[in-house]
Amino acid sequence: MDLPGMAEKQARPLRVAVIGAAGRMGQRLVEAIDATPDLILAARVDLRPAPDASPHAARETVPFATGLFQYVAGGVDVAVEFTTGEAPARIGPEVERLGCAWVSGTTGLSATSWAALESASGKVPVLWSPNMSLGVALLTRLLQRCARLLPQDWEMEITEAHHAGKVDAPSGTAQVLAEVWQKERGGQIVYGRSGKTGPRPADEIGVHSLRLPEAVGDHRIYLGGRSEMLELAHRTLDRAAFVTGALTALRWLAGRPAGLYTLGDWIEDRLR
Ligand code: NAD
Repeated sequence: MDLPGMAEKQARPLRVAVIGAAGRMGQRLVEAIDATPDLILAARVDLRPAPDASPHAARETVPFATGLFQYVAGGVDVAVEFTTGEAPARIGPEVERLGCAWVSGTTGLSATSWAALESASGKVPVLWSPNMSLGVALLTRLLQRCARLLPQDWEMEITEAHHAGKVDAPSGTAQVLAEVWQKERGGQIVYGRSGKTGPRPADEIGVHSLRLPEAVGDHRIYLGGRSEMLELAHRTLDRAAFVTGALTALRWLAGRPAGLYTLGDWIEDRLR
């Protein structure tokens, strides 16, 4: 597989632990790592076994630990983790003990989980992104450029569409995009609109959430000027986009100095 980030790959295969390996993202990562020659699946870590339907349910060639992945024979270069908002608080100290790099795609982080990521980043390289798709990483950078370049009278609103089973709104990605604009230009973020709202204030940043049966994840940014509009849009067609991004991130991260990184740093590095 020829992925972006291959150029940064190590001379020897990287040993990767997948944390949350029984989850939707974890199972996809296990399959992708198995099929990738420059990566070795060192451990599948979860609190539960893979579901029966998974091709890995009956396979025990690598340990299925309940979090104690520092005992994996041969060690771990990178842990890639998609779990729940509370879990990084428990995983962080193990990553620190092990001294491996840590790619986290978990959203809805609790304060203690966020503190664990920050603490680990003092000792090992940590990359956290609420959206691992490379297209969204670029979209975020493009929006930042627009916010810096467009005349002050341009205004911004966002729509996001996700599957009907999503339990939170807006998406973490829409939130990040709104904050990117707000950081550069100020303004108030407003979630949806109804009733007698009055005229929209010029600095209002509207974020609107759509929920539909099959939507994997769409984000559309509307930039409104005078007599013209610019739209930036990204559509995730399959979770494979997040897997590709996570593998790109872990290859780039392994061997870097300790610190807290995002996929934006990967883009900046490629632009240099
Ligand atoms: P999921 O519920 O299918 O899987 C989560 C797995 O984590 C479960 O198997 C659970 O048992 C396991 N887990 C929980 N606590 C753990 C712990 N302490 N140690 C080890 N394993 C633990 O969820 P999912 O759809 O795979 O998503 C996981 C997370 O990733 C969510 O926060 C989701 O929002 C996020 N996500 C992010 C991206 C991205 O691009 N950043 C993409 C998809 C999903």
